Amino acid sequence: RRAALRNELADAIASDQFALYYQPHVDLQTGAVSGCEALIRWNHPTRGLLLPAHFIPFAEQIGIITSIDDWVMRHAFAAANELAALRPGFRIYFNLSGRQAGDPKIVRAFVKAARSGVRLKNIGVEITETDAMRDVEATRQVCRALHRLNVRVAIDDFGTGYSSLSSLKRLPVDIVKIDRTFVSGVLSDPHDETIAETIIAIAERFGFDSLAEGAERPEEIEWFRNHACRFVQGYAVCHPLPLPEFKAWLSDRDPMTGI
Ligand code: C2E
Ligand code: MG
Ligand code: MG
Repeated sequence: RRAALRNELADAIASDQFALYYQPHVDLQTGAVSGCEALIRWNHPTRGLLLPAHFIPFAEQIGIITSIDDWVMRHAFAAANELAALRPGFRIYFNLSGRQAGDPKIVRAFVKAARSGVRLKNIGVEITETDAMRDVEATRQVCRALHRLNVRVAIDDFGTGYSSLSSLKRLPVDIVKIDRTFVSGVLSDPHDETIAETIIAIAERFGFDSLAEGAERPEEIEWFRNHACRFVQGYAVCHPLPLPEFKAWLSDRDPMTGI
């Protein structure tokens, strides 16, 4: 099965079977859609649409991930230019794979992209807390360089990995994404509520914005709005959509009506 999957992944890259789906980031202060996250899918020829959990960890293991990373980056850049034409300040965040987080190559790729006309003010990256903390110094240097290029950095799945606050303090990031496990518990579990409140407070003190990820219910969104969380993302706003549907969703949405 592993050998078959390896061959299928090589085919997928060669014959463009991947797709990026886009899920909005909503600014809770204004109700505006400020940006989105790009999430990879695999249109598998026989198994249908596969979520990243079914192939990204394997692709990381066998090293084929670098080709996927390049594919994601290229498509996210193209989409960012397209969306920025509709909304100038719009920012697309895409997920870095484990090995990209502390690798200076990623910085060079951004510089090259900027030279070829990609507007980096429309781009952000997401690095999971676990990847960010693997080598904090290397991550810090990459984040600093990205920052200088005007690329925003979000720490993904915050609260689920191992990090000390002194490490977080050293990372020049813009957004801390509160993991869905806490978001789904804020209304029912006092511990999750405390954790979410604490992450928001720490983010604020450190000068980062916070984003609640995976909000499925309008009441969760209300909770985060009332607790000064800056952004929200989740099914309660919109599911991840292919680019044409996402553009239609964006243009249907009145920016003044909020959520
Ligand atoms: P993530 O970056 O934390 O992305 C959020 C995940 O939560 C996505 O799952 C999204 O579809 C899902 N989600 C969003 N709102 C809700 C909600 O309200 N409820 C629930 N239950 N889920 C929600 P997805 O697309 O399956 O992605 C899973 C993970 O795969 C991502 O987690 C990210 O770590 C990784 N990933 C996704 N795209 C890429 C990529 O292009 N490259 C790499 N290296 N990793 C990727
Ligand atoms: Mg992410
Ligand atoms: Mg996440």
